[in-house]
Amino acid sequence: MTTIIETTVKNGFCCGCGVCAGVCPSQNLAMDWNIYGEYNPVRLQDCKHECGLCVTVCPFADGNPNEDDLGKLLYGNIPQIHHRSETGYFLSIRAGAVINDAMRLRSASGGLATWFLDELLRRDIVDAVICVHHYDEPRKLFKFVVARSIDAIHEGAGSVYYPVEISEVLQYIRHNPGRYAIIGLPCLLKGLRLAQTKSVVLRERIVMMVGLACANQKSTYFTRYAAWKAGIPDGELAGISYRKKNPENSLARFFTFQFRNSMGKVITQKWDDEIGLMYHNRFCTIHSCDCCDDMFAECADVCFMDAWLPEYICEPRGTSVWIARSMMANELLIEGVAQGLICDREVNFEEMLAGQSSMRWKRELLGYRLTLMHNAGETVPTKRVVPTEGKILSKLEKARCKAAFEIQRDGKKIFVTSGYAEVGVWFSSVWNNVSWYVKLGRRVGKYYGMCVTLGKYFVSKWKN
Ligand SMILES: Cc1cc2nc3c(=O)[nH]c(=O)nc-3n(C[C@H](O)[C@H](O)[C@H](O)COP(=O)(O)OP(=O)(O)OC[C@H]3O[C@@H](n4cnc5c(N)ncnc54)[C@H](O)[C@@H]3O)c2cc1C
Ligand code: SF4
Ligand code: SF4
Ligand code: SF4
Repeated sequence: MTTIIETTVKNGFCCGCGVCAGVCPSQNLAMDWNIYGEYNPVRLQDCKHECGLCVTVCPFADGNPNEDDLGKLLYGNIPQIHHRSETGYFLSIRAGAVINDAMRLRSASGGLATWFLDELLRRDIVDAVICVHHYDEPRKLFKFVVARSIDAIHEGAGSVYYPVEISEVLQYIRHNPGRYAIIGLPCLLKGLRLAQTKSVVLRERIVMMVGLACANQKSTYFTRYAAWKAGIPDGELAGISYRKKNPENSLARFFTFQFRNSMGKVITQKWDDEIGLMYHNRFCTIHSCDCCDDMFAECADVCFMDAWLPEYICEPRGTSVWIARSMMANELLIEGVAQGLICDREVNFEEMLAGQSSMRWKRELLGYRLTLMHNAGETVPTKRVVPTEGKILSKLEKARCKAAFEIQRDGKKIFVTSGYAEVGVWFSSVWNNVSWYVKLGRRVGKYYGMCVTLGKYFVSKWKN
């Protein structure tokens, strides 16, 4: 029997979730940084008895149940539940926001995730919420915490585009009885669901999983580069908010960074064109994200995301969409609306999907990317999408996939081999070469995806 080090980590598909290190019965694994600013498990000592548990809980290890299997087990028998291959199971899809304006402005989107976690504690459904807080250690910056008060839950509001791993908190849950809710990205929650299939303790104690939609996660270097551009040298960044909102803005996506340096000075910086392009074009993206097919946290009781819908893109306070799967999550949200704590409106499935353009990347383009990886000699993980030659894709979209790999692979190495000043020069030269077909490819994909989605919508209307 082998451990996770010889499988997922060796093959380069570790997303850094920390579930393996959190469940290892002998505490043989610990999470540490690799040279590319990503978390990976490392072996602290040889296994006296190779139990294989670390492999069976890993979201990127072959042979484990996939999101379809886990989703069916969890939600397949709920009366009147719907299922679509893109989202998994759902009872309701709605868009909305918290009524409390201060809370909404502090949040990443419409503040529904924090409201939901707050409600779980207030109603005594859980004893504690596992969410992410800032952490005063320059390399780590963020960590999962056990929040036992409403204030501690609210302190976690906002989106974190920085690696954060769960191993310590998972060990805490294993050793401390109680009812916990956990918020996380789809890959982490899949790992936790796999762990629950192996552990009665985790099954009983983790009573609610709250997901965030996810297109990709970044290595530490994305943040460190953005901070360096704002005049904060490496090692002097003490804190960062990625999505500061300004209610005077004209568009929901006009966020600013708010950095705090080690002297406590706060520096606000716009997401400039370069950082925006880097974010959207796989610069510093973790390699596991290149072969991830779960956008909507299909193993979570509820998933929250941005409402990139026409009527909300000009709402600078932000708006969320939720996909509720379990009865309890659905009821809590519906009751919140009835009590006037959150506002909402129903969102048609196709409408929601049309707002998430990354979905095409995660599904239609994934088969072709898997083939590219295979051709490059990589061991390719088994996904719900099979490797294809991409015959139905346009040349532009194929070229876009290749460019993304180039940016992702070479961008990763540039920080190890060069200084920060060279990174911008390198990126602009790569971008100048690829920008025309990447932009066109994205547009083609977006409109093609929208046409297919709208087509399906009209067919479903016509059938009804
Ligand atoms: C890496 C990443 C990628 C994303 N990609 C997309 C996308 O492509 N499309 C889309 O629509 N939405 C995406 N989201 C989700 C979106 O950014 C918001 O987080 C979501 O809409 C919830 O907003 P809210 O206002 O309801 O949450 P808030 O009320 O602000 O609460 C957010 C909660 O999430 C927790 N949290 C934040 N970051 C992390 C993290 N990295 N890991 C675990 N918990 C975390 C916080 O601790 C807090 O409890 C992404 C989020 C992240 C972190
Ligand atoms: S369980 Fe998570 S941290 Fe461990 S190897 Fe798998 S992906 Fe990496
Ligand atoms: S095989 Fe078992 S003991 Fe060895 S690292 Fe994995 S979980 Fe730990
Ligand atoms: S894209 Fe997938 S693998 Fe990457 S962080 Fe998001 S859920 Fe995890």
